[in-house]
Amino acid sequence: MADTSSTSQGVKKTDKIWLDGKLVPWDDARVHVMSLGLHYGVGIFEGIRFYQCSDGRSAVFRLREHIKRFAASAHILLMELPYSEEQLVESCLSLVRANKMDQGYLRPLAFMGDGAMGLGAINPVRVGIMAWDWGSYLGEEGMQQGIRAKVSSFTRMGVNSQLLRGKITGQYVNSVLAKREAKLAGYDEAILLDTHGWVAEATGENVFIVREGEVYTPPLSSPILEGITRATLIKLMKDMGLKVREEAFTRDSCYLADEMFLCGTAAEVTPVRELDNRKVGSGSAGPVAKGVQKAFFKAARGEDPRYREWLTYL
Ligand code: PMP
Repeated sequence: MADTSSTSQGVKKTDKIWLDGKLVPWDDARVHVMSLGLHYGVGIFEGIRFYQCSDGRSAVFRLREHIKRFAASAHILLMELPYSEEQLVESCLSLVRANKMDQGYLRPLAFMGDGAMGLGAINPVRVGIMAWDWGSYLGEEGMQQGIRAKVSSFTRMGVNSQLLRGKITGQYVNSVLAKREAKLAGYDEAILLDTHGWVAEATGENVFIVREGEVYTPPLSSPILEGITRATLIKLMKDMGLKVREEAFTRDSCYLADEMFLCGTAAEVTPVRELDNRKVGSGSAGPVAKGVQKAFFKAARGEDPRYREWLTYL
């Protein structure tokens, strides 16, 4: 019999889920199979982490920025959210408190529900918020030693095919295909190129490389999500005195880079030790990746007063 105490992928059920304005038991957070979000991918989501700080309290990292992006995703998808940003911020906090968690991951999700059917249908929007404990997304060893990545055979969508500024559920099929292809070929993660061949991003992370002491990341004019961790790391690295350039680069610049690393809410800061079977730099986590990883966790755990404004304490 299936284990009902935990879902697949090692996600353990928590006590409550916030669904359409109410905290309900995990198993009662159900939706109808006629929901348009399921049929056509008309939905939006966020991924947010909360950390236990060194003073024992817990804080959500960049909660307001994530909720702002959630509202922006809804706006560009012509989806009217039935809750204000302030209500969603409060709902995230109330869920974490109800589940008595001190660290973990929050997943706000909004999708078009059931009623009418067809591509042009407009149904009531359903909103859920889930929370669970999530360890290192790309593995603890990957965080320390670096992961092995492969340039994908799938191209990141063109800017006029999808709305890359949004975290729109249907768009993630591109990431799922790339991720599964990479895993089946024995790699940890895929790097997607844009329609012109420039490096865009990973399946759920933004990309950085370091060459001759300078840090590069694809610009926001490329088809990438405007990552909140990307913005966080740019700020941290500039404050560390590093020069950060938002410039397009090719896959072979990654092969020749001294360092490469990925960042995202789930993956945090994960070094890439190998790309397409070529060692990147020394073939292990480099000094910039390690330095910014340390600075990131210090900020997230409230150990650096310069970045306190990024935290919303529970
Ligand atoms: N790119 C994609 C495609 C993503 O799904 C994510 C994860 N949200 C990121 C980049 C990183 O964004 P963030 O740092 O805001 O989590």
